[in-house]
Amino acid sequence: MSDSGPPIRKIIHLDMDAFYASVEQRDDPALRGKPVVVAWRGNRSVVCAASYEARKFGVRSAMPAVRAERLCPQALFVPPDFSRYRAASKAVREILSRHSDRIEPLSLDEAYIDVSTNKLGLPTATKVAQAMRTAIREELHLTASAGIAPNKFLAKIGYHRRHGRGRTFAAPQLFRRSAPQTGVSMPLASEAPKTALPVSMQDAAEYLAMQIASCIRRSRSASTQ
Ligand SMILES: [Mg+2]
Repeated sequence: MSDSGPPIRKIIHLDMDAFYASVEQRDDPALRGKPVVVAWRGNRSVVCAASYEARKFGVRSAMPAVRAERLCPQALFVPPDFSRYRAASKAVREILSRHSDRIEPLSLDEAYIDVSTNKLGLPTATKVAQAMRTAIREELHLTASAGIAPNKFLAKIGYHRRHGRGRTFAAPQLFRRSAPQTGVSMPLASEAPKTALPVSMQDAAEYLAMQIASCIRRSRSASTQ
């Protein structure tokens, strides 16, 4: 560890994959491998979650349920059961708390975890993220993706780069850029897993543009309801 400059924070953004739909598929074998849409039926209803099979048809969360039905008529619609999602979320939280007490939940399926120091003394943030994802898969039969960076914003950017389930994203270039020193090999550059997809400044810009577009869409659909 370099002795100059402030210590670099290590933040994991953990996001459960298609969470409500995955809980439904886990608990009901008849739903596995099928397009599942978690939503109440009705004209004013919106999609709470869509399985990966349903996403292939363009179904997305927050979309009107009637539109989802039009895009994917064969989808199996399941009414949300938040008591089960809350229970699964609590179990995920318990797994996260084995590594750090600094957990900031964003919703039932997303959280930031500050692992600048971790309880088990694992050598890198990548190892911590892997341990979390493995426990979630083996103990809860659910999958999660993780982004790792020196701050919350960059940790979340990986979200938009994720094309499949259960991947880890890291920003080695940003780890280096975030360092106050120049010309020094930074310890966190080696935190990134070899297989992680890199996150670039362009990704950051695209992510911001996507967030702004989605805010505009939401405010438009709210004003037409
Ligand atoms: Mg999620």
